[in-house]
Amino acid sequence: MTINLISDTVTKPSSGMLDAMMRAPVGDDVFKQDPTVNELEKKVAEMFKKERALFFPSGTMANQTAIKLHTQPGEQLICDKYAHVFNYEGGGVSFNSGVSCRLVDGDRGMMTAQQVEDAINPPDFYHSPLTSLVCIENTTNKGGGACWDFEELKRIKQVCSKNKLAYHLDGARLWNAMVKRGENPQQYGELFDTISVCLSKGLGCPVGSVLVGSADLMEKALRVRKIFGGGMRQAGYLAAAGIYALDHHISRLAKDHSRAKEIGETLQNLAFVKRVEPIETNIVIFQVNENLISELSLVQKLKSHDVHFISMGQGKLRMVTHMDYTQEMHEKLLDTLNKL
Ligand SMILES: *Cc1c(COP(=O)(O)O)cnc(C)c1O
Repeated sequence: MTINLISDTVTKPSSGMLDAMMRAPVGDDVFKQDPTVNELEKKVAEMFKKERALFFPSGTMANQTAIKLHTQPGEQLICDKYAHVFNYEGGGVSFNSGVSCRLVDGDRGMMTAQQVEDAINPPDFYHSPLTSLVCIENTTNKGGGACWDFEELKRIKQVCSKNKLAYHLDGARLWNAMVKRGENPQQYGELFDTISVCLSKGLGCPVGSVLVGSADLMEKALRVRKIFGGGMRQAGYLAAAGIYALDHHISRLAKDHSRAKEIGETLQNLAFVKRVEPIETNIVIFQVNENLISELSLVQKLKSHDVHFISMGQGKLRMVTHMDYTQEMHEKLLDTLNKL
């Protein structure tokens, strides 16, 4: 039995999802004639009470499109030092938009409104880049699946409004945050100019992300997506998986969260584990005591038990629970860890 905890992206479509994909009516989405893509976009826009939504092949492309919409070359965005848009999108911020990142030293990937305000360059000081956008990530990936305090997000919104900054949410795992905190999409839709959400992470789709925003912004996003090479043809087969996941796979995320917590509790009791970061959702980040075992040998050792996880660098090891991580696997993992 292979236990793959490298990411929540390793899931394969369930039979219900595959059925939905096979039955999907499709057309050419570049001509906006794919009924299933249109249905998914309408559904997600309505969930967030935004005017429009646009289907993307990846979360990276959805974020990069949003950044392109909100900035001009030479400008600067503000994000936490752990942000996916800065660390894990191949430098796309500068490549695609000619924009630099002002990094904030937040807590587990989360900044305060005061930190954001302090990071804004004075708009009349033409020597420094013009600040035009704030990017938030919820849950935080490198921050260990941490969820933002919604009140802080509201305070940051006020800073954005006062300083005429756009406000983008990288919500790759926003579903996890909403389940954990009992929040709803509409709350987020009211706060942010654009939101990207992944269907291919916790929700278990093979492919896909969605960007939501105003009709105006999404009209521009359509062009940017085309330029980035993201215009897909009979994409309804993929969108059908998304519709199915939104209908069936959101509330079950709570199960991933409780299993992650139990993994953390087990790790915490192992002599060679130095520290387990607080676990709120489905991501477990921990450090080992390098005097007792190296990161690499722990990864290797568990691999010999067919348990797979990754190092994120900088002393951070990561396990991520997901839909295809079953109770049977969970029991085996805890047992294997306890016997190490
Ligand atoms: C996975 C992820 C993305 C998008 O990733 P893709 O692999 O391009 O779909 C964006 N932001 C965060 C925080 C992520 O974890």
